[in-house]
Amino acid sequence: VNPDRPSPEPDAVSSAFFTALGEGRLCLQSCAECGTPQFGQLFCVRCSSRSLRWVPASGRGTVYAVTRLHLAYHPAFAESVPYSAVTVELEEGPRLYANLVADGGAAVEAEIGMAVEVRFSALASGVTIPVFAPAA
Ligand SMILES: [Zn+2]
Repeated sequence: VNPDRPSPEPDAVSSAFFTALGEGRLCLQSCAECGTPQFGQLFCVRCSSRSLRWVPASGRGTVYAVTRLHLAYHPAFAESVPYSAVTVELEEGPRLYANLVADGGAAVEAEIGMAVEVRFSALASGVTIPVFAPAA
């Protein structure tokens, strides 16, 4: 764990998301009125209902986009460049921007369409973030 790595700061909307991650579960919000899955909203993005509840996600998805980072935009990542970050489209639909890792810590080459599964990375701050690994 890199102690200098910046950490998300859970707020009133996202704290349940981060609490679940700390317990090894990826959750997303589901609208009780229309069922639309989403992340981090106060109101449903489709029907504006406030009846959003956090439900477990499958943790499976595919790589939708790849960003190759050659510059460290924060000193904590200086020794990591170049590396790839990915936008993962979850089976349920919503997309997450995350790091791609290999089980065991080896580097892995990101490819659009690659099947991936969620893993959990605990930061020095105590916050756990989702990362993705190639699906078994
Ligand atoms: Zn809705």
